[in-house]
Amino acid sequence: MMSAKIIDGNAIATELKHTLKQANAQRLTQGLRTPGLAVILIGSDPASQVYVGSKRRSCEQVGFKSESFDLPESTSEQALLALIDKLNHNDEIDGILVQLPLPQHINTENVIEAIAPDKDVDGFHPYNIGRLAQRNPQLRPCTPKGVMTLLTSTGVDLHGQEAVVVGASNIVGRPMALELLLAGCTTTVCHRWTKDLESHVRRADILIVAVGKPNFIPGDWIKQGAIIIDVGINRLENGKLTGDVDFDVAKEKAAWITPVPGGVGPMTVATLLENTFYAAEKLHLG
Ligand code: NAP
Repeated sequence: MMSAKIIDGNAIATELKHTLKQANAQRLTQGLRTPGLAVILIGSDPASQVYVGSKRRSCEQVGFKSESFDLPESTSEQALLALIDKLNHNDEIDGILVQLPLPQHINTENVIEAIAPDKDVDGFHPYNIGRLAQRNPQLRPCTPKGVMTLLTSTGVDLHGQEAVVVGASNIVGRPMALELLLAGCTTTVCHRWTKDLESHVRRADILIVAVGKPNFIPGDWIKQGAIIIDVGINRLENGKLTGDVDFDVAKEKAAWITPVPGGVGPMTVATLLENTFYAAEKLHLG
């Protein structure tokens, strides 16, 4: 039996960052300013701290300006909205990222909707989700957009493929389905209320899993020759990271598969930089 080819998210993300670094250097020679990203973290959730740290570091790697705002857990919604308003009007900032989840006392929708759509590099504002839904995307959610880059890297024609997304969250599953639809896939979204998940997974040419439960998808459900993208990040008791798909069995049936770690994770961060560059280049002239 043939084992699947690994989609190397680390390598593809590194290549994208290299391209962005060069494109930034090109901007500077033209007398244009460096793209700027504001990263806001409220509180001290350990996973959020890791994600934010990696976003800031990557920004510096490609030579973008990263402005950090680390605010205490007790920060009021009003204070956060005031900061966003200030950044919306700051001409050196192209992207504003507010790390989720937010503390209970802050209304996440209010915060997302306060970010100017042309600085919404996470792509979660209803304006940007609406643009994607209407086939005219502007700033696109990073994880799903990064997944599309990984799918494209396989060279497989996506038109007419049976794509199945497991998980329907606002930040991954739903925008993922919109991206796949835009790419010409016949797209099914499975979630908590789906009946007979197995039958959907078994017919997927392209399977995207974003649930957040280790080994949620048994390897023997995978269709022979499928492309498997595992978005899940789960920390096991022994400290190891693992995805949502039973990788060892799945890789014997799939044609392509992403590892965890080293698959979707690094691609999400690189795509955030891609979005920041896009905002600087196309949305904020001058
Ligand atoms: P989430 O908000 O918890 O969403 C999980 C989704 O899975 C929900 O739509 C949920 O359904 C669905 N679900 C739960 N149990 C299910 C079941 N038994 N059958 C089918 N669907 C089920 O999580 P998320 O933010 O989308 O993230 C999902 C995973 O991806 C997590 O492990 C997260 O850490 C990871 N993640 C990775 C990256 C990356 O860059 N690699 C980025 C974001 C997230 P309901 O909507 O009905 O509750």
